[in-house]
Amino acid sequence: MNQAVHLTGLTEGELVAFVEEMGAPSYRGRQIFAALQARRLRSFDEMTDLPKIFREKLNERATTSTLTVEERYISTDGTRRYLMKTRDNLPVETVFIPEERRDTICFSSQSGCPLQCDFCLTAKLGLLRTLEAGEIVEQIIVALNDAYGVSRKTPRGVNLVAMGAGEPFLAFEPLMKALKIMADPKGLHIVPARVTVSTAGVVPKIRELAKIPDRPHLAISLAAPTDELRDQLMPINKRWPLDELLSACVEFEKSLKPGERFTFEYVMLDGVNDSESHARQLANLLNRHGLRAKVNLIPHNPAEPLPYSPSPPERVEKFKAILESKGVRALVRRPRGRDIYAACGQLAARRTPNINQQALHKIAS
Ligand code: SAH
Repeated sequence: MNQAVHLTGLTEGELVAFVEEMGAPSYRGRQIFAALQARRLRSFDEMTDLPKIFREKLNERATTSTLTVEERYISTDGTRRYLMKTRDNLPVETVFIPEERRDTICFSSQSGCPLQCDFCLTAKLGLLRTLEAGEIVEQIIVALNDAYGVSRKTPRGVNLVAMGAGEPFLAFEPLMKALKIMADPKGLHIVPARVTVSTAGVVPKIRELAKIPDRPHLAISLAAPTDELRDQLMPINKRWPLDELLSACVEFEKSLKPGERFTFEYVMLDGVNDSESHARQLANLLNRHGLRAKVNLIPHNPAEPLPYSPSPPERVEKFKAILESKGVRALVRRPRGRDIYAACGQLAARRTPNINQQALHKIAS
């Protein structure tokens, strides 16, 4: 059976070609693009500016949405986690993080993840499938509609982070296509400068991204200052060890434009990678490579059955102070949505009690 074409994953140009092939005039393609991406409508039936017969034809061959929202969890801190399902019944999770200045949406690039980072719950799922461009864009549309309402403008714009489930650089093509679709001023108009992509260290793709002019910000997950420890925590290190990874980072840093961010992430695991000597090793490593990027320290988000716990706050502060004393800028990231399994490394399609359903109804009404 031919699957219905998912129109949310098409650029405006591709949508024009699609409707022309159906025998409709090209402006219908532009109309559908605006309806899907700028107005964020979720079905052809809502597109009342299209002739009814045309909508019926579209319903036969195409679809506007392939993800179904199964659960919506709300944290005491206002963070929302959406547990969705693809057409082939695979879990996709997206997190909406309200913030003072600009809200952030954290999206997934894969269902599950093939990398086996020892401290991450998503790893326990294994790779189920890489998501398509349309499935990436749709996650953003679902989260925006729930937060602000269909057809409503985002109040202050949003930031996007590819830090949900999966390794974005193993989903490079669909990710870049999704970014292209979302950047269109006639659609969502979320430009790459508002997007941060986090990688566990797929070196060839870091080098490829360095050559792309209109690109998202880059974040690299380090988690350890030595190959010995990193091999254990992040097996991808055996394929691309620290020296290769940091050489690619040096290349990337050379290509930075004014105002462009580039950061390292360092998950802090109690008694594993958080000692004073680890801090000195980390600072020396970055300084030896001449890297000036900032380090984000992320206290581990615990989840059964992960064999780790977060470093105590004093140790995180000490670690930060040592980095700074050696000229490395560091910031401690505040965990968000831990109570609903929405924090970094906790996405594994868990069903948790909807403790704040009441709050949710208040927001929705
Ligand atoms: N695969 C990509 C993006 C997803 S993970 C990557 O590895 O960068 C996003 C961030 O969460 C990474 O920096 C990762 O190291 C971190 N992380 C994973 N599990 C975590 C956990 N349990 N607690 C805190 N951070 C975690």
